[in-house]
Amino acid sequence: MYDMKSMKAEEFISDEEIQATLRYADENKDNMEVLDAIIAKAKLGKGLSHREASVLLACDNEEKLQEIYDLARQIKEDYYGNRIVLFAPLYLSNYCVNGCLYCPYHAKNKHISRKKLTQDEIRREVMALQDMGHKRLAIELGEDPVNNPIEYVLESINTIYNIKHKNGAIRRVNVNIAATTVENYKKLHDAGIGTYILFQETYNKKSYEELHPTGPKHDYAYHTEAMDRAQEGGIDDVGLGVLFGLEGYRYEFAGLLMHAEHLEAVHGVGPHTISVPRVKKADDIDPEAFDNGISDEIFEKIIALIRVAVPYTGMIISTREGKTVREKALELGISQISGGSRTSVGGYVEEEPDDDNSAQFDVSDRRTLDEVLNWLITLGYVPSFCTACYREGRTGDRFMSLCKSKQILNCCHPNALMTLKEYLEDYASEDTKKKGLAMIESELKKIPNEKVRQIAAQHLAEISEGKRD
Ligand code: SAM
Repeated sequence: MYDMKSMKAEEFISDEEIQATLRYADENKDNMEVLDAIIAKAKLGKGLSHREASVLLACDNEEKLQEIYDLARQIKEDYYGNRIVLFAPLYLSNYCVNGCLYCPYHAKNKHISRKKLTQDEIRREVMALQDMGHKRLAIELGEDPVNNPIEYVLESINTIYNIKHKNGAIRRVNVNIAATTVENYKKLHDAGIGTYILFQETYNKKSYEELHPTGPKHDYAYHTEAMDRAQEGGIDDVGLGVLFGLEGYRYEFAGLLMHAEHLEAVHGVGPHTISVPRVKKADDIDPEAFDNGISDEIFEKIIALIRVAVPYTGMIISTREGKTVREKALELGISQISGGSRTSVGGYVEEEPDDDNSAQFDVSDRRTLDEVLNWLITLGYVPSFCTACYREGRTGDRFMSLCKSKQILNCCHPNALMTLKEYLEDYASEDTKKKGLAMIESELKKIPNEKVRQIAAQHLAEISEGKRD
């Protein structure tokens, strides 16, 4: 149908094809033969095209939906097991020159307090995160070439990686900054970042231009092609996402999957992660206009279908969502969650006062990291702080081919148990420790290979004796 390899992201994710996809989905959503054929293909665990997945999204047949949810659970179990990776966002600066209509950082918001952390303040924030037990961060900044130049981002990453504090060390810094040049992506790559994350916000070009009326972010093509430039700069783990609630969800869903198809076709590796943020009320943002946008049921359906359509991708949910929605989302496909998050600049050292307006959005899940871990363990998930793949250079297609062959399970599980053990020894409350140790004991028995099981048991014993990775 297309020469995907030679097409630019913006050309490939065209309004024409998305509109055709929505029509195709409407025409076929009640056609049992088509639905069964798509579900049969999905059961092979190799993914679906944007057109096929869009038919399932349009379908409202209860029986078929149940099949899809069961399949999403199964695929998640097959590729990711019961491990959930934990991370925290770290807001470095809320200076921003853009005019995004949904974001409180927008340049015209004059009553938000603008803050940019000094390297010393970053050290204090990171030590506070390490004291909770975090090992993996996502740094967040507004776009401002004067206040937040790339040199500031690079210096901050270097600072973060070099903080040794008690038993903590941040082992992976993911970066969520505005679209930039190949040269800057090379610099980020050389600084040793984990995933480069950039949300598309919306794939509808017309809405995109209206929602981003001013500033460099207004340029739809530059934003949409950012992941290609990141790949060109050597970053092979890239994270996609749309901000659900800005535009019609069916449109966004098709666009998101087309973006994943584009990356796979052009770079031989699809998105390392897909995030599913929903727009939240925030300072200077009309809460009526932007607060969640889509129902929880539709949101869950989207999560299940992303899991089915792109089985190998990591899926991320943040504290924009509360406990109940997160619980359902974990079942249906999410593999990474944030915990104990603060969304204001400097929020980990200084408790956010109630009248503080510098948070980027309202956090719905306000539990501590320990409470989140306790909850995960109670639900039967193994909380993981593992960053072994990244540290051993298993990024991009090397990670994906392992994941697609489901081999990642064999090395991930023991690593997850070891990082959980470190957390339990160093940071956990009494109750979490008790539950976590019981979980490790029973999960250890599930490692099929005897040799691997013995090595894992040996490492776990060494962690009890004080050895750290
Ligand atoms: N400035 C960078 C950029 O332009 O891509 C990224 C950093 S921004 C701190 C991270 C993300 O927060 C944005 O990409 C947007 O999707 C999300 N965001 C902005 N306003 C939001 C709101 N009101 N509710 C939920 N998420 C929001």
